Amino acid sequence: MSRPVCFVGPWDLDRRLAAFPRDPADATILFVESVAKGSALPYHRQKLVLVLSALHHLAAALRADGFDVEVRRAPTYVDGIRAHVAERGSTEVIAMTPREWGLDRALREADLGAPLRLLADGGPGGHFLVSREDALAWAQDHGLPLRQDAFYRWIRTRFGWMLDDRGKPVGGRWSFDADNRKPARGHAPPPAMSHAPDDLTRGIIDRVACWPDHWGSVDGFQWPVTREGALAELDHFIEHRLPTFGDFQDAMLDGEPWMWHARLSTSLNLGLLHPREVADRVVAAWEAGHAPIHCAEGMLRQVVGWREFMRLVYWLRMPGLREANGLDADRPLPAMFWHPERATMRCVQQAVQTVHDHGYAHHIQRLMVLGNLALLLGVRPLDISHWFWAGFVDAYEWVELPNVHGMAVFADDAFTTKPYAASGAYIHRMGDHCRHCRFDVKQGHGDDACPFNPLFWDFMARHRDRLARNVRLRRLYATWDRFDPARQDAIRATAAAWRDRLGPSEVATRWSFDDDAC
Ligand code: SF4
Repeated sequence: MSRPVCFVGPWDLDRRLAAFPRDPADATILFVESVAKGSALPYHRQKLVLVLSALHHLAAALRADGFDVEVRRAPTYVDGIRAHVAERGSTEVIAMTPREWGLDRALREADLGAPLRLLADGGPGGHFLVSREDALAWAQDHGLPLRQDAFYRWIRTRFGWMLDDRGKPVGGRWSFDADNRKPARGHAPPPAMSHAPDDLTRGIIDRVACWPDHWGSVDGFQWPVTREGALAELDHFIEHRLPTFGDFQDAMLDGEPWMWHARLSTSLNLGLLHPREVADRVVAAWEAGHAPIHCAEGMLRQVVGWREFMRLVYWLRMPGLREANGLDADRPLPAMFWHPERATMRCVQQAVQTVHDHGYAHHIQRLMVLGNLALLLGVRPLDISHWFWAGFVDAYEWVELPNVHGMAVFADDAFTTKPYAASGAYIHRMGDHCRHCRFDVKQGHGDDACPFNPLFWDFMARHRDRLARNVRLRRLYATWDRFDPARQDAIRATAAAWRDRLGPSEVATRWSFDDDAC
């Protein structure tokens, strides 16, 4: 009997999405392992294990419930769909609107052998809280530069999270960000939950372990790959991390990869969790007195504010966002981003080692250590962007590109008015890496100076024409102008020496990077 096929992208692993058939008689279900997508970047092996294991777990669960499920390995997603349609005589292809530009375009342009019906990726039946159209309409009403805080207020109001009877934010403020910046010295993060691989995951680990041209090791894989695992991780976060999450949101500690962070982004971005249920649980914990307001609001802001906002910026700015390079950055990514053993800067070594070991680094390492270093060095935006996309288990283009190009390296100014540039003083204030570092965070130039210091001032001086117009940077430039010329020259010379020293990885040249492969 001919019937439609439901194509499930490996990030739509939520049976509640509108594309999924409710009854086995309604449609066949197709998952595709795309060879092109899997080899488009030197993806971290744990990322490949995560995606494939989650996909196969859902396929197995659907089969157990009587659905006709095919998992097909094919050169591309389109090839896989076309082959399934031809073999089964499918009457229609039903799918959620893809989250990434390349597949969205490929599906719309392809002759699949049957009509294509794409369902909204947001709003009721979708993964995001609001539809793409509603979000883009909001952006049109508000103009550039977009304000994340205004978008967040719109979402909070629309869904009624943490509002009083008059529709005002509880606690009198929309954001408690100022209370989310405590250093964590002397505090121990709660133990992280670990999800031991089952037989299915172990089989995929064996498959992926020997794939050439991928980064990182499968050893120590411990991410949730099922809805049950994701819900257990959510429970664990609410119980053990949320009550102090907000305090140490921007903190770093040597040897602590997880800190108080939620570890929910892999599950959210695969569809194992819905942002609404995470938000509801966080708010319920606050209402029950389990978490203080600045912790609950801090988490809410990440999940329903920043995450949805990044998806809006992506669709607003694509396809030009990929090529954005507002500061004309032209240097290759330093080798130490692929080789943590070559990093001599302790904060960078810790962050890259964590990415290498787990496919993960927490928010402040991403922005203020790794992104900050790439910004100050003048690394080509796509070089650092591809590294984040390949290396992080939770990274997909729709979320990493606006984060990296829009925020970390100031390549696009859709929503930022000045770069997130910082000297070593910020890293020193927010963590304890400097105590373990061979460089002196107090020195401004010379062989022993923390490299972030000369790189920061050199960056600001190099981009003065562009940045000095920003009133928030006037005092900074006044400080630079008070440095005597000899000091300015010494800073510039130390920065130039660092830029020369941090050459590209010789192995990265053999990896291919294909943004639109799908
Ligand atoms: Fe990082 Fe500089 Fe501190 Fe070393 S001294 S850990 S390079 S901030």
